Order: sequence, then structure tokens, then C-alpha cells
Amino acid sequence: METLKNDPGEETSVLYSRNNELDCEPALIEKENTSRNDIECEAVFQVRGISKVYRMGDVEVHALRSVDLDLYKGEFAVLLGASGSGKSTLLNIIGGLDVPTEGTVIYRDHILTSADDAELTRFRREHVGFVFQFYNLIPSLTALENVQLITEIAEKPLDAIEALKMVGLSERLDHFPAQLSGGEQQRVAIARAIAKRPDVLLCDEPTGALDYKTGKIVLEVLEQVNRELGTTTAVITHNAAIAAMADRVIHIGSGRITAIERNSKKARPSELTW
Ligand code: ADP
Ligand code: MG
Repeated sequence: METLKNDPGEETSVLYSRNNELDCEPALIEKENTSRNDIECEAVFQVRGISKVYRMGDVEVHALRSVDLDLYKGEFAVLLGASGSGKSTLLNIIGGLDVPTEGTVIYRDHILTSADDAELTRFRREHVGFVFQFYNLIPSLTALENVQLITEIAEKPLDAIEALKMVGLSERLDHFPAQLSGGEQQRVAIARAIAKRPDVLLCDEPTGALDYKTGKIVLEVLEQVNRELGTTTAVITHNAAIAAMADRVIHIGSGRITAIERNSKKARPSELTW
């Protein structure tokens, strides 16, 4: 058990196992370590001291308070916290959909918090795949056309049919969203998100609208994408059971990171129960 200072007066506990594949706390790793660690410990995102205050008339809502966080290349991170704890605000800031009131977000060598709207749009378009609770598919387009919408504008996309095959939907290419179940629609949304081969996949409550069985199928797809494409993946949930499939679990409460846990062994989605 190690601790690190998150902000003055606040201690964040970090469970840390030396045997884990994603042994990446930079402060805890020797520079001369194996090349494997060097690769896996690359921070794709560095979030430093971010706060977000929403002003609603006279009322201020402090959605995030001095948050520090790294997301590492290829990891599967679960952001776990109660409703209203600031998870979506954090993910939206990381994904360039929103900007913090204070603090810095660095994506590789880009300082996102210094970027203008056009640069943020380019960052999102080129590097980020989003998956939301409600699938946001275009109802008048088929599954294949929803994915092609992205593959036609991306620089080095996956083949749209391949992307749909990867999420197990090769038999549903010509179905419209209304002709698909919730889980199938979410899998189309995942295919669309990964079709541009994003560097990072950000998922906000991807199973929130799904029943137990369908939710697990969607988690299996996310795990497979992370493993096969190596896409750095962050999944928001308020469902503690999902934490077991993560490399790291980032606990969020009242706008702060309250703890970061590292799973020494990841559960398969099929092993999760809730
Ligand atoms: P979570 O995703 O963990 O449920 P959010 O990040 O959505 O939490 O919200 C954190 C806090 O910020 C909540 O109190 C919420 O009401 C508030 N909040 C979120 N978005 C806005 C907004 N656009 N305007 C005002 N308050 C907001
Ligand atoms: Mg939310």
C-alpha cells in the first residue's frame, strides 16, 4: 500500500502490486526498468489540478476539485463513483468536450487546456472514440451506414464491416437502429467509435441502459477491443461489480479522486455478477 499526495491535505490511497502488467505509477518505477514497462507506462493523458465549477445564477456547483490523474497507454480504467460525483465532467474534459475552470490536461504532447475550439474538435475527431449510455445512432441510417459515416472521414479507419464484425454484428449490417435491441445498438455505437482506430475510447455508463445479460455482452466487447486493438479505454460506471475487469479502478467521490486501486488479476466480464 503506497500513498501519494493528491492535493494539499488530501491523501489518495494507491493499491499497488509489483507483479501487475500495468505497473505504471511513474513515481514508483525505476527509469532503467524493462522496455515492456516503458511502453506500458506511457501516460496518454496527464490531468493536473483540474477543477470545474458550474455557475447556475447565484449557485456554484463544484463538480471537480483539484483532480490529478494519468491514463496509461493500453490500460482499461474504470472510473467508479456515485451519481453526481463528477465522473462525466471528468471524462468530458479528458475527451475535449468540455474545459476545466482550472488546471491542465495534457494529451501526449498537446496541452488540451490551451487548445482553441477548432483544435479540440480536431483532437476529438482524430483521437477519441466516445460511447455514451444512449447510443446516439442516426435512426434513418442502417448499422453499416452509421459506421461508414465515420470511416468515410477518418484517416486510417478500420473497414466498417470489420468493425461491425468485431462487435458480433455481421448479421445485422442492414438493420436500422429501431430494428436492433438495446445491446445491439450499443455494439453499433462501439463499432462506430472504434472504426477510426482512436487512440482512446471513453465510455460514459455504456451499460447504464441495458439489462444484466446484454450489459455483460457489451462489456465483453469493450474488453475485446482493449485487448485486440490496444485502445486505451476508460469506462465510467456507478456499478462496483464492473471494477473487477479493470487494470485500474479510479474511485471518484464529491468531485475528487478518493482512491486508485490496481487489480492484480482482472476478472473476465463473464465472471462479473451484480
Ligand atoms: P456523474 O457523472 O458522476 O453523475 P456529473 O459529472 O454529471 O456527475 O456531475 C457532477 C456535478 O456537477 C453534479 O452535481 C451535477 O449536477 C453538476 N453538473 C454537471 N453538469 C452540469 C452543468 N452542465 N451545469 C450545471 N451543473 C452541472
Ligand atoms: Mg454521468
